[in-house]
Amino acid sequence: MTAPRIGNAQSAINKLRQQELDSRRQATTILQPSEVSGGLSPARMLTTTLGGTARPITPKDLAQWRLAVQKLGAKAQQGLSAREALSLSTAASVERAKKEISFSLPVRLQAGKLHLVTDSGPQSKVTRHHVHLEFAQYSAALARPGTPAQAAQWLCKESPLKFECDCGHFRYFLRYVASAGGWVAGRYEGGLPKLTNPTLDGAACKHLIRVLTDLQSSVGLRQRIAKMVEADRELINRPGRAKPRAILVAQAEAERMLPKHSRRIVVPSNAPRHATLVPKVASADVRAAMAAFRGKTDANSIAVMRALQALAAHTGGGGAA
Ligand SMILES: [Zn+2]
Repeated sequence: MTAPRIGNAQSAINKLRQQELDSRRQATTILQPSEVSGGLSPARMLTTTLGGTARPITPKDLAQWRLAVQKLGAKAQQGLSAREALSLSTAASVERAKKEISFSLPVRLQAGKLHLVTDSGPQSKVTRHHVHLEFAQYSAALARPGTPAQAAQWLCKESPLKFECDCGHFRYFLRYVASAGGWVAGRYEGGLPKLTNPTLDGAACKHLIRVLTDLQSSVGLRQRIAKMVEADRELINRPGRAKPRAILVAQAEAERMLPKHSRRIVVPSNAPRHATLVPKVASADVRAAMAAFRGKTDANSIAVMRALQALAAHTGGGGAA
């Protein structure tokens, strides 16, 4: 297991972002929000490669998915804490992170924003991935009383984060979820790629899972964050001065911060926010209620019936969360 290189990380990510934007502009496979919210006509039936076998995405899939994102979004407009993001990630992503992604290294810290790199999985065409984190309440951390070390501790362990990764999993799926949920860093993605599993598929890719794990326990990283807080607090006291100081980490310095073995990934079981995202309604109950209102012609009953029919459409599948 070798640590990824951090040299050139800044220019590399800038280039990758430009490439992504270029390809995004030419893409014909991006589903616009209006298509998700409206009913899809059968002619526009989409296909997906769910579980390796192609099957059509149904309007029900999309409606269910949109509902799940909406509910999630209302709870997390201001970002997700590291623990929350981990608890919202799928078991498959967590397994992959445990097996394949060993280390993260900080590259650059400035004004509450962090650039880190991780190693990549064995199937990957690249040797490293770029993760960006933003402390959504960084100004609150600067303003609150306490030492820079205490502020850093709070930022790492409890404060809400916005994040992004340059990998395909994040690019093609999670960026849309993160944009809808309000925790995306960088580019806002308003369109859902068509060839993706339309169920709510977690918040973090395997690289983010590694970074969010290390963020909570790396002493070296916390020390750099404290340094950033200290520098930015000084700026507040001297307004009108230069822009926020950037803290750059050299390869040797970053490698000294690495633990001997990669840190154990622990997914908090006491924060299963996704468990409450989609209320479970027994389809038998919905059918019984529909039977009670069927045939009634007053306006109220018709409205109730309509609501029940919408509910029935959502309870058929396995639940979007
Ligand atoms: Zn990733």
